[in-house]
Amino acid sequence: MELVFATNNKHKLEEVQKLLDDNFKLLSLSDISFKGEIPEDYETLKENALQKARFIYDRFKTDCFADDTGLEIDFLNGAPGVYSARYAGPGCTFDDNINKVLNAMGDTENRKARFRTIIALILNEREYFFEGKVDGEILKEKQGNEGFGYDPVFRPLGYDQSFAEMNLEEKNKISHRGRATQKLVEFLLKK
Ligand code: IMP
Repeated sequence: MELVFATNNKHKLEEVQKLLDDNFKLLSLSDISFKGEIPEDYETLKENALQKARFIYDRFKTDCFADDTGLEIDFLNGAPGVYSARYAGPGCTFDDNINKVLNAMGDTENRKARFRTIIALILNEREYFFEGKVDGEILKEKQGNEGFGYDPVFRPLGYDQSFAEMNLEEKNKISHRGRATQKLVEFLLKK
């Protein structure tokens, strides 16, 4: 089965590719010759994930899925949440976002946080959703060079390493996107 993953993020593509077995051929946006940005204009992960999947589906009429992810930090009342990508403003880098989080949290000991991912799948014109979540905490400084985004400052509950100190397999086993993708795969295998 061929499925398009509607993302421009190479890290996400690599993570999800690892979890799909040989039954699925994952196509990237460059495989279908799409160049450009996919909008995410909504205020919930679910609406944004669906908007991204629909955006590609409407143009290419091909089965596809998209994810939207947010980092929810208790001390920041759930921020950056759905605004995780653009937390430090338009055009910001991953480092800008991390620095804004670290500054906003200061030395507080309340460092509980979670990543949440929603995957929206459009298959044979029907829409399906899959959710994955991982609890953890925000470190006081960056650790590790793997992964992307907030990985260097996120340590999952029960682990000594940040996501950025884990390899792809280790992160995928427990991560928000890994868990949502495992549900997607189980669903597709039953179809
Ligand atoms: P997106 O809108 O789903 O692309 O995700 C929003 C932002 O959350 C991204 O720009 C990253 O900064 C961050 N993010 C998403 N997934 C991860 C992850 O697995 N690790 C760390 N940060 C992530």
